[in-house]
Amino acid sequence: MSALTGLLGILPGCGQADKAASGTLPPPPKGSLWVQLEDSEGHRTGRVSIPKVLKTDDEWRAALPLESYRILRRKGTEAAFCGILLKQHEPGLYVCAGCGLPLFGSAAKFDSGTGWPSYYAPVSQLNIAEKTDITLGMRRVEIQCARCDGHLGHVFDDGPAPTGLRYCLNSAALTFIPQGQSVPVPLSDTPLQQATFSAGCFWGVESIFRETTGVVATAVGYTGGHLENATYQQVCSGETGHAEAVDILFDPQRISYAELLKIFWENHDPTTLNRQGPDVGDQYRSAIFVHSSEQQQLALMSKETMIKSKVFKRPIVTFIGTAGPFFRAEEYHQQYFKKKGVAPTCHR
Ligand SMILES: [Zn+2]
Repeated sequence: MSALTGLLGILPGCGQADKAASGTLPPPPKGSLWVQLEDSEGHRTGRVSIPKVLKTDDEWRAALPLESYRILRRKGTEAAFCGILLKQHEPGLYVCAGCGLPLFGSAAKFDSGTGWPSYYAPVSQLNIAEKTDITLGMRRVEIQCARCDGHLGHVFDDGPAPTGLRYCLNSAALTFIPQGQSVPVPLSDTPLQQATFSAGCFWGVESIFRETTGVVATAVGYTGGHLENATYQQVCSGETGHAEAVDILFDPQRISYAELLKIFWENHDPTTLNRQGPDVGDQYRSAIFVHSSEQQQLALMSKETMIKSKVFKRPIVTFIGTAGPFFRAEEYHQQYFKKKGVAPTCHR
């Protein structure tokens, strides 16, 4: 039994619960809503009430990465074929990037050819809200997260069986939780946060962060350069400007960004320019890509602390800059050491 179903004391696999839950419902407790939860293995709960997430615009702006804020809170749309979840085909769960509510399972994901992640059904109709959208001279049905009212995308009636629907979503509105990883039960109103680090070969860096308590998910990829959807071979050529990087999703109630920075400094040599041990090239540079002004302040402060501590005898060359597009690396690079069953050693 998963942590989620275990916690809620219900049996997994109750596939009929969505229908039952969508019937006539009593009003939920004040400030709450009825939803169904799901874990990364597809086990779904019956109807449960959880608190709504209400924040001011300033609070959302401070809490979310810029792109997620633009989409969820400003009804933005990401460019077609550019979202990081478009080519995500691993089994798992997609939760709201604003409040953590489970929204779509990988079993309902399909390739629509439109350039946006597409699903034929949500985890539960309770978990989404539909609104009429008459912008852009069209009449469309907007999809929002029922818990935080975040804009997710639109739904169209040209999808595949069994529903005939196509939920057309923005990657930055969602967070992917791979199968087997625990889903934070969304009972708090603190959204998950994102961190991006480069510290040499991404295999080892990813392995260290993935096993850190409070880290919900990791992905390895390429960022900081200029070539969209670069391949490993292109990055290794040194002509893309990209660094090998690890994108981290973490629960700030369980681990702080400052603690992640500490792990970053402790697990590589930030004094070697464009090099980590035997790995030479600017793709192996030491870099912190920040997602908010708060992260930038913390990163600069931690770098200053490291310099003053004189832990490293040579000057620290770590770059600190704003996070840009992150291009997920080929699947064989994801959780490489776990797949190979070897200890993380390559990055030092
Ligand atoms: Zn939400």
